[in-house]
Amino acid sequence: MRKINFSAGPAALPENVLKQVQSEFLDWQGQGASILEVPHRGDAAVALLKEARDDLRTLLEIPTDFHLLFVHGGGRGQFASIPLNLLGKNSKASYLLTGHWSKAAAEEAKLYGDISIAANLNEAETPWCIPEKSTWSVPRDASYLYYCENETLTGVEFQAAPDVSIPVVADMTSSILSKPIDWSRHALIHAGMQKNIGPTGLSVVILHKDYLSQAMPITPSIFHYKNQVAHSSGYNTLPMFNVYVAGLVFKALIKQGGIKAVQAINKRKAEKLYAAIDGSGFYKNNVDKSCRSTMNVTFHLPTEKLEKQFLRDASEQGLINLAGHRTVGGVRASIYNAMPESAVDGLIEFMEAFIYRATHACHPVT
Ligand code: PMP
Repeated sequence: MRKINFSAGPAALPENVLKQVQSEFLDWQGQGASILEVPHRGDAAVALLKEARDDLRTLLEIPTDFHLLFVHGGGRGQFASIPLNLLGKNSKASYLLTGHWSKAAAEEAKLYGDISIAANLNEAETPWCIPEKSTWSVPRDASYLYYCENETLTGVEFQAAPDVSIPVVADMTSSILSKPIDWSRHALIHAGMQKNIGPTGLSVVILHKDYLSQAMPITPSIFHYKNQVAHSSGYNTLPMFNVYVAGLVFKALIKQGGIKAVQAINKRKAEKLYAAIDGSGFYKNNVDKSCRSTMNVTFHLPTEKLEKQFLRDASEQGLINLAGHRTVGGVRASIYNAMPESAVDGLIEFMEAFIYRATHACHPVT
């Protein structure tokens, strides 16, 4: 019995994709072998990789002067790869800190260069708000400005890419494919695949061709963008199963009408859920309305005891993985592309019923 899975990642995948994987798992495309067993440099695997890349290019309208890579190491792999490849001779970069993941990226980058902090969201103060651009301090000689488009733990999301005069790098792990990307404002975007794309482990890296020649000599070959571009992402054995599932997800999104269609549904789902929270007088979201996430909706209940009860009751009713990240607590509903609108409606109904039980019933939950 499949439940409604609000996991922040690895996250729920579209059910029809999983069914297709299941149906051709033992014999992929008449190869007489599973996708897990075919040579990664064989014709079928090479064609699969090309098709997945072409479909992702179509979906995200990636300009031709950007390279598209699938690389090992997940999200954090890029926290190291980016400074190694982009810091360049002056070794300076600037990081916008808006939560856990941008902070982690900055800490990793400090291993390799002179990292300054452009601005820092203070999580001790609510509502959480992306610092005003007028307060940012971005050195003009920094090689890039780094930001995390959607902070998965707190649900703080940029509504537009930073508009600065130096190259901009974005972590889009938890927001890729949820909305269009403004390529005119980015030098590089990266995204771990385990939320809106497919299985965990790989990252998508999309970078402008001008940023291939400044890697530090110590950059490991597997993380070296120029090397990966030269090998079309195949410098070492690429996990073709991941590429295959990603390819099926891309096809499903194209069939759904593409990114703008998906964005409209995402917007509707998130708006309903925030309206239910704001209108309840019971649940509380800590993010300023100007930067609320469409993908990770976080909220608290009046007491920790009620939160525990909420999570237990939800799980009993088949609404699973709703606990907030251990560092933040509370509740987090991750409503990525694969989460049907009807499931969000179901969650809202559950939330309303829970308030009733907590406040009106003969034996209220306290
Ligand atoms: N960036 C963001 C925004 C994330 O949400 C995560 C993981 N949840 C990561 C980076 C790290 O990804 P990984 O675990 O694949 O290293």
